[in-house]
Amino acid sequence: MGTQKTAIIIGSGVAGIAAAIRLSVQGFSVQVFEKNNYPGGKIYLIEKDKYKFDAGPSLFTQPENIEEIFAIAGEPIQEYFSYRQIPIACKYFYENGTAINAYSDINLFADELHKKLNEDLSATTRYLESSKKLYNNIGSVFLNHSLHKRKTWWHKRIFKALLSIKSVYLFKTLHYYNKKKFKSYEAVELFNRYATYNGSNPYQAPAMLSLIPHIEQNQGVFYPADGMVSIINALYKLALKKGVRFNFDSLVQRIIFSDRKVKGIVVNNESISADIVVSNMDVYFTYKHLLADNDKAKKILKQERSSSALIFYWGIKKEFSSLQLHNIFFTKNYKEEFEHIFTKGTLYNDPTVYVNITSKMEKGHTPADCENWFVMINAPANTQQNWQTLKLQARANIIKKAE
Ligand SMILES: Cc1cc2nc3c(=O)[nH]c(=O)nc-3n(C[C@H](O)[C@H](O)[C@H](O)COP(=O)(O)OP(=O)(O)OC[C@H]3O[C@@H](n4cnc5c(N)ncnc54)[C@H](O)[C@@H]3O)c2cc1C
Repeated sequence: MGTQKTAIIIGSGVAGIAAAIRLSVQGFSVQVFEKNNYPGGKIYLIEKDKYKFDAGPSLFTQPENIEEIFAIAGEPIQEYFSYRQIPIACKYFYENGTAINAYSDINLFADELHKKLNEDLSATTRYLESSKKLYNNIGSVFLNHSLHKRKTWWHKRIFKALLSIKSVYLFKTLHYYNKKKFKSYEAVELFNRYATYNGSNPYQAPAMLSLIPHIEQNQGVFYPADGMVSIINALYKLALKKGVRFNFDSLVQRIIFSDRKVKGIVVNNESISADIVVSNMDVYFTYKHLLADNDKAKKILKQERSSSALIFYWGIKKEFSSLQLHNIFFTKNYKEEFEHIFTKGTLYNDPTVYVNITSKMEKGHTPADCENWFVMINAPANTQQNWQTLKLQARANIIKKAE
């Protein structure tokens, strides 16, 4: 009998824990090293004065990815984690007073855009049908296969995917595409917003991004019982059950790399060897700090940077029946907002505001008759702007808009 192979994961974000479980199921002895004193990375809970907030991600889609991890681990998910689909994916508010419920049911959603914006029923259903085709033909290929592996590119699914690409998806912008599909500026803005999901500008990004609404509007939006952090709690518990060992307060300093092979890591000034090392931390910092490969790091930085976000966590001593779990308040001038973020590198004074309110689903997240507002606006990539000033201005602008 050979000795058990070992794996080290650097970082305990959701992806790090998922990788740890997968490797453990494959028979590896797995250790996770995490610089924080808790698991979850960007997914964590903020608690203050009886208010609870999901700190990072708030929109839960594609729960089958979590289901899959429990399935391969041979554990019953219902003993760890539960979630349900929500009937309204998001509620959109416009400055002209229009409010749109983006129902998860396609026909109800099409009906809503018809009643409120006079869009043809078929405009919405056809748009979402194309979005689905695009996602199934192309999106899933690029999301589920490693692009740096040659065998991905020589597989016949790639040829099938490439053949299904219409030129409009590559050579026209998302905004151009949406304007061709819808009559009202409200519907165009609603579908333009999906570009922001990967930090893009809809006036520059290709129409290919029209595949994103498929995930939300066709496949559905879900809510995990107890909030997003319950995804981490469930996966962490599963990882422990599978024998994964977690080391917190452990900042990995270096990946040991010699003879063209990764051999282990240095953490707390101690070398630990492993057959496999997975870095779950930012790819730029992995090259720069852990591998001291400045050329690769620089190459990554050469890529255009995505937009960022500014978030406020506000305890609100009131309840608003007109709001949903996910809400968007659009700016008066979407194009101008993106000009500010991507060209001028600053915030716009009338920002589009996303408000996530988990107390709509969980009474225990606030004191009685209150709401917990996770308030997020798009922001430029960080180039050392004066964030203290920008933050105060944004706060005042958001409050004015909400009022
Ligand atoms: C504001 C915001 C909103 C978002 N909203 C959504 C949403 O609504 N829906 C959605 O699906 N996604 C959303 N996302 C994206 C989602 O949060 C991320 O894709 C996901 O959480 C990333 O997980 P990860 O495991 O890849 O990385 P991370 O969560 O970043 O984990 C990396 C881990 O590595 C650790 N680490 C770093 N360096 C070291 C080191 N040297 N040694 C040891 N440990 C180290 C970090 O502490 C961290 O725990 C959002 C992201 C942000 C920031």
